[in-house]
Amino acid sequence: MSDPISPAAPRVIAIANQKGGVGKTTTAINFSAALAERGLRVLLVDLDPQGNASTGFGVPQSERGMTTYDLLIEDAEPESVIRPTNAENIWIAPATTDLSSADLDLVANEKRSFLLRDALSPAALSRYRFDLILIDCPPSLSLLTINAMVAADSVLIPLQSEFFALEGLSQLMLTIREVRAAANPALRIEGVLLTMFDGRNRLSQQVETDVRDTLGTLVFTTVIPRNVRISEAPSHALPILAYDSQSKGSSAYRALAEEFLARHRRLQQA
Ligand code: ADP
Ligand code: MG
Repeated sequence: MSDPISPAAPRVIAIANQKGGVGKTTTAINFSAALAERGLRVLLVDLDPQGNASTGFGVPQSERGMTTYDLLIEDAEPESVIRPTNAENIWIAPATTDLSSADLDLVANEKRSFLLRDALSPAALSRYRFDLILIDCPPSLSLLTINAMVAADSVLIPLQSEFFALEGLSQLMLTIREVRAAANPALRIEGVLLTMFDGRNRLSQQVETDVRDTLGTLVFTTVIPRNVRISEAPSHALPILAYDSQSKGSSAYRALAEEFLARHRRLQQA
């Protein structure tokens, strides 16, 4: 499963894993917040019909207006979909349950895998100066996730530190290879991120060893601990960095941003 790590600074990163509950949305929210804290301007694209990333940034269902559904299906202008969040340097393209019909709505569209790429093209977003665009994918390898991978420079894969962590990963890697072959040859793997790690638990430690033995340098050095403050933050519509800046969860997402930026020095001058 060896795979080159992205050498050039990515502009668009898809956060993907077809398993639910592995920390995709949590990572989308808090990695965005940690990068924004470093001065980068981040657009978070919510591509999950559950819309948890939108909720996590304080955009209630009732106030979502135009969403990523309109961006993909209705050809809406990005500026009517993208809005500021309650966090400095972070904008969001929100999602609602409308998006759950996207796969069906797109079946007959011959450009169905390329809609997000076109919507997020530098030309379409020329009004903005985003340093990075993060896409929070749904828990499936549906057309929405394919759209994210076609639009992306790289894929960040959260893995929950549990016994079946690696299960399903070969399917995800296969999908990445298929997207490369069919539509996006430059797609890289940004890295695999271990989440919900419990350092006191032998099983977590064993899972980390197995994942590092299997995936080597693809795995981020930074590990996200299981931290109750991380799970509380969304109900306050805040990233962990704003909800409890001194928590272990905040330190971990700051370390992830640091590791990422060290790898992509060009972004540090952003
Ligand atoms: P996904 O988007 O992959 O479905 P989520 O990010 O929504 O996963 O996470 C699933 C659940 O686990 C959520 O309730 C979230 O608050 C919780 N969670 C995620 N990461 C952590 C963590 N590091 N520590 C504690 N709880 C976490
Ligand atoms: Mg999610």
